[in-house]
Amino acid sequence: MHKITLIPGDGTGPEISEAAKRVIEATGVPITWDIQEAGQDIFEKEGTPLPQRVIDSIKKNKVALKGPVTTPVGKGFRSVNVALRQNLDLFCCLRPCKTFKGTRTRYEDIDLVIIRENTEDLYAGIEFNKGSEDAGKLISLIKELSGKVIRPDSGISIKPISVFATERIVKFAFEFSRRNKRKKVTAVHKANIMKYSDGLFLETAREVAKGYPDIEFEDKIIDNLCMQLVQKPELYDVIVLPNLYGDIVSDLAAGLIGGLGLAPGANLGDEFAVFEAVHGSAPKYKGLNKVNPLAMILSGIMMLRHLGEPRAAERLDTAVTSLIAEGKHVTYDMKPRPDDPTAATTSMVADAIIEKLNYSPNGN
Ligand code: NAD
Repeated sequence: MHKITLIPGDGTGPEISEAAKRVIEATGVPITWDIQEAGQDIFEKEGTPLPQRVIDSIKKNKVALKGPVTTPVGKGFRSVNVALRQNLDLFCCLRPCKTFKGTRTRYEDIDLVIIRENTEDLYAGIEFNKGSEDAGKLISLIKELSGKVIRPDSGISIKPISVFATERIVKFAFEFSRRNKRKKVTAVHKANIMKYSDGLFLETAREVAKGYPDIEFEDKIIDNLCMQLVQKPELYDVIVLPNLYGDIVSDLAAGLIGGLGLAPGANLGDEFAVFEAVHGSAPKYKGLNKVNPLAMILSGIMMLRHLGEPRAAERLDTAVTSLIAEGKHVTYDMKPRPDDPTAATTSMVADAIIEKLNYSPNGN
């Protein structure tokens, strides 16, 4: 019996979480769910969007499946997602992007893996508010140390990149490539401009790469990578990036395979693992039973593999692949037009997958 923390999330999170839970249960893998609410509604009830009980539950169970959680823009509480990653030291965000046959996309046969460093860079959460005493002190100190003048009406976010975290994420990228028989790792940076942060990322990645002569290594500047991913995505295989670029490139790669509705992810550390879709809480669709649950279901497949349940993962993968190829029981975002009246609801997608699993109980 596996014990898993399930965080339904907010916005459309609870709807897709319920769909994912149902299809995972239908594989027959014995799971007890420890359901832990977090996010916007919990902030209103408990005064924090991420109560300690949620973290304690993941620490106890080691594995979580998480729905998306809203982060207010520019004000209010800080991101629950960032806090979870930092609290549990989930240093790696693994986001595979693979084309499913039958998806309407501009590209065919995309098969990329994005590996994003999750704990530092501009997302470290070290920020100084415009006009604050601390921002003023920092501005003076920087002038004293570097001679550089920062305008007094500036807000400041700090970008730390360490050898430790870079070594750890680049090693993960190479180990992942070895285990999964991938051929090339591309490290991405803007070292030409940010010599001491991205420059260190590049230098460290080059050092780590020397330990993996069986896997090709290259580096690319982030802007060039974005253009090339759109023009020639087939040139890339496993891509490893600092936090901010990794976040943006994950969405770009999701676009290559037909959108956020199909992009799964895992946040991994040495001890804990949290599986979640790349997309957010899409709050405007909350309660409409409308959005696509497949990204969360695909994250659930990654979780089943992590739990050592490859057979169940394979069966669920086959059911999802066949559902997408048929194109009938899919949500609005996968139809030729978003107002297509034949679009399936969130729960209908889960029902159709469960029917496929029941029809093929032995995976045949
Ligand atoms: P979003 O991913 O929630 O939505 C962007 C658009 O993508 C939606 O309007 C919708 O058209 C489409 N979309 C997203 N998920 C979909 C799905 N499952 N099926 C069909 N269409 C889908 O991004 P956003 O609007 O920038 O963010 C909304 C909130 O989610 C914000 O508060 C943000 O901070 C948060 N967020 C959370 C996570 C997370 O919990 N891991 C990740 C990203 C964003």
